[in-house]
Amino acid sequence: MTQVFNFSAGPAVLPKAVLRQAADEMLDWHGSGMSVMEMSHRGPEFIAIHRQAEADLRELLAIPANYRVLFMQGGGLGQNAIVPLNLAGRTAQPATIDFVHTGSWSGKSVKEAARYAAVNVAASGAAGGFTNVPPQSEWQLTPGAAYLHVCTNETIDGVEFNFVPDVGTSAGDTPVVADMSSHILSRTVDVSKYGVIFAGAQKNIGPAGLTLAIVRDDLLDHALPICPGVFNWRAVADADSMLNTPPTYAIYIAGLVFAHLKRLGGVAAMERMNIEKARLLYAALDADDFYQNRVAPDARSRMNVPFYLRDESLNDQFLAGAKARGLLQLKGHKSVGGMRASIYNAMPIEGVQALVDYLNEFAGR
Ligand code: PMP
Repeated sequence: MTQVFNFSAGPAVLPKAVLRQAADEMLDWHGSGMSVMEMSHRGPEFIAIHRQAEADLRELLAIPANYRVLFMQGGGLGQNAIVPLNLAGRTAQPATIDFVHTGSWSGKSVKEAARYAAVNVAASGAAGGFTNVPPQSEWQLTPGAAYLHVCTNETIDGVEFNFVPDVGTSAGDTPVVADMSSHILSRTVDVSKYGVIFAGAQKNIGPAGLTLAIVRDDLLDHALPICPGVFNWRAVADADSMLNTPPTYAIYIAGLVFAHLKRLGGVAAMERMNIEKARLLYAALDADDFYQNRVAPDARSRMNVPFYLRDESLNDQFLAGAKARGLLQLKGHKSVGGMRASIYNAMPIEGVQALVDYLNEFAGR
C-alpha cells in the first residue's frame, strides 16, 4: 500500500489500526454474519456497539453524570441551528445570544443564530484578521443571555482557545456552548465548565455524518416551539439517540476510535503527542521568513496549522512537490488561500517530521 500522510482538515486521517479492524469486521461483525451496516439500529448487536461507544467516550472525556451524550446528524452547521432552536427558549423572549467571533466557523454560527434570536458579538478578532482570541476581560457580555457561543478551535484560521471561558457553570448562569469540532479529544477538557459541547465527527472522531452533542441535563428542555422534533435535544435524549435511524456505521467507527484512544493512554496521552507535533511544525515555519503563520503564539492551534509561502507564486510547485512525497491535502481553505496542515490525533509524528523535512528542503535550508 502507498505510504502517504494526509493533512486534510476533514474528513481526515483515521488511525490505521481502526481502519484495519473495520476491514476485518466488514462482512461479519463478531460472528453475527452481518456487516454493521446491515444491522437494525434496534437490534442487540448495534445497541451493544452504541452503548460501548458512549461509555468509552464518557471515560475519555470524564463526562459528568449530569450530561447526556447525543449522537446526532446534520454536522457542525446543523448544530448552528439546532443549538439556538434548543436554547433560545431558556430566557424571556426575544432572547439574546452572545458570541465570541474568532474566525470563519464562529462567524457562520452568528449568522445562523440570527434567524432565531438577537445576536450580540461580545468580542471579535476580525480587526486583527482572526489571529488571536480576544481576552475575556474585553468581552461585552449580555446579562441574561440565552447562552454564550465560542468555537474553541477555528479550523480555517488556525486559532485555538488556550483558556476556558469563565461565565458560570451551574443552572441559572449563562451556559457556554462550545463548537469543538476540530479539536475534541485532542486535549483534556473540563466538561463541567460548559453547558453544551458539540462536534462534527469527521476530524478527530470518525466518518462524516455523525455529530456529537454533549448537553447538560438542565439545558435539554428549552426548545423553541419551531424546533424540529428530530432535533429536539430532550426528545433525542429520551430516545437514547434512536429517535430516528442514527448514522450506525459512523457510530461504530467512532466507537473503534474511542477504544483505540483508550489503548493509547487516553486524551492526556494524545495531548502530549499533539503538543510535540505542533511544536515541531511551528518551529519549522518560524525558522526564517520563507513561510509565515500569522496567528499569535498563544492562540496557535495544535490541530490546524495554516501557513503562507512568502512568495505565493511558488504555491503550485510547493503542492506538487508535497504530493510527490506523499504529503497530501495541504492546500489551504479557499476562503483564505495559502496552505494548511491539519495534524489531528491520527497524524503520527512521523507524518509531521516528513512535512518538516519537506518544508526545510523546499526552503533550501
Ligand atoms: N465548526 C467547525 C469548527 C468546523 O471545522 C466545521 C467543518 N470544517 C464545521 C463547524 C461545519 O461542520 P459540518 O461540515 O459538519 O457541518
